[in-house]
Amino acid sequence: MTAPVTPAGGPPDQARASLLVCSPLRLEAMAVRRGLGGAGQVRVTGYGPARSRRQAAVLADDGFGLLAVAGVGGGLTDDLTPGDLVVGTEVSDGSTTTRCSVAPLLAGELRRAGLRVKAGPVITVDRLTGGPSRRQLADGGAVVADMESAPLAAAAGERPVAVLRAVSDTPARPLLHPGIVTGGLAALRSLRAASPVLARWAAAAGPRRVLLAGPRSFCAGVERAIEIVEKVLDQRGAPVYVRKQIVHNTHVVADLERRGAVFVDELSEVPDGACVVFSAHGVSPEVRAEAARRGLDAVDATCPLVAKVHAEARRFAADGYLVALIGHAGHEEVEGTLGEAPESMALLQTAEDVASLRPADPGKVAYLMQTTLAVDEAAGVSAALRDRFPTARAPGSDDICYATTNRQQAIRAVAADSDLVLVAGSANSSNSVRLVETAERAGTPAHLIDGPSDIQLGWLEGVSTIGLTAGASAPPAVVDDIIAALSGLGSVEVTERVITTENIRFSLPKEVRAP
Ligand code: SF4
Repeated sequence: MTAPVTPAGGPPDQARASLLVCSPLRLEAMAVRRGLGGAGQVRVTGYGPARSRRQAAVLADDGFGLLAVAGVGGGLTDDLTPGDLVVGTEVSDGSTTTRCSVAPLLAGELRRAGLRVKAGPVITVDRLTGGPSRRQLADGGAVVADMESAPLAAAAGERPVAVLRAVSDTPARPLLHPGIVTGGLAALRSLRAASPVLARWAAAAGPRRVLLAGPRSFCAGVERAIEIVEKVLDQRGAPVYVRKQIVHNTHVVADLERRGAVFVDELSEVPDGACVVFSAHGVSPEVRAEAARRGLDAVDATCPLVAKVHAEARRFAADGYLVALIGHAGHEEVEGTLGEAPESMALLQTAEDVASLRPADPGKVAYLMQTTLAVDEAAGVSAALRDRFPTARAPGSDDICYATTNRQQAIRAVAADSDLVLVAGSANSSNSVRLVETAERAGTPAHLIDGPSDIQLGWLEGVSTIGLTAGASAPPAVVDDIIAALSGLGSVEVTERVITTENIRFSLPKEVRAP
């Protein structure tokens, strides 16, 4: 699949972009110029909508590559204080709306620089806003108001555009408040502190190719686990308790929390008789027994492929084997699997750990694997085990699941042709972390990102092809968000490389199936 992504992107042959910053007032332009350090041109475009519209007519024919509008603005929401920065996700004057795709990248970069930042819509108004109209604008979704940005931003046309406003006044400290002077000074200081980020935007800008690895994102076990929580919420109503994160992804967890799920670390946090869902990573028999003892309404979202490893552990242990589990200490799946037969199991994290095994009978050693390991790394540990115990029994079928294997093969296929690999996934997602390591082992620098705001602009300098994938617990929408944000740096040509297609689906547990 090849698809050009055009929102706010430039033409495909766009050269490395030159930055033009429009600041309505001379004081604002001075603050920006000092922070920018010569990385772009700063133009004073005049105060108010009429001057901005006149400037916009001139700008449309200007040869800049990137356009930023930077100045002070009136905060509309109660959480803002003077000196806070607002990065516009879009800017509108009611008749024209311009999307600013780069907003998450700039907001993330500003936060990492230690500045207080909010990303959201900017509204351009014809006159200064007082109390009631300020509230009205906030009710419409805007975060900050100004009198210039919308016509200027619209003049960028297809070229990338950013709007940066430093808050000088807020609902609590309005324009006629005695603190307006200190608020204005705080805003100018923030504007100066933020301007180096505009320089980094310009340095990272340019046309790019994105190689999308396929398959990527949700696997069947994650889809099933999320669906179980959704069904339990529908059928039993909120709150629904979930022991541990249902899957290791911040977006999934935040979304379900909004809908009434309550995530807890231990069953002791669940009220007696309440409904509790066990996560996709599985639980030990001890946890199940405690839930039964407490009379909890337990629904099990353990992935069937994790449950299969649990069953193998029970079977080997019952047959008198020492069961070596190849996996990572502390991971919930590993804790759950080890809990199946704690007296008969040992954890192997590396090939060196094999030396520590002390089986009662060296002829009765078996091994299992965590489902989300790197295939090549796990093979090294199992080879070391078989070297020492040549008769060691392997699992009946691969423990490392199809989704983990497919995603690793897919990222290997695109990493070779990429200057940089981005993996969408949360830091505690084992399979996502393994994707980063797989790309790095293929010789390509790689980073794990929860979303576009984690992308550091410095990573993108000199990078023309980005390999992009998502771990099995990361929603597909995050990948779309990342591509959209990259289009705020210039045109993006997206090509998908699919190494295999997946059509696995797991049935739901009887507790949530329709009667
Ligand atoms: S990554 Fe594999 S084992 Fe884990 S939930 Fe997905 S399908 Fe199941």
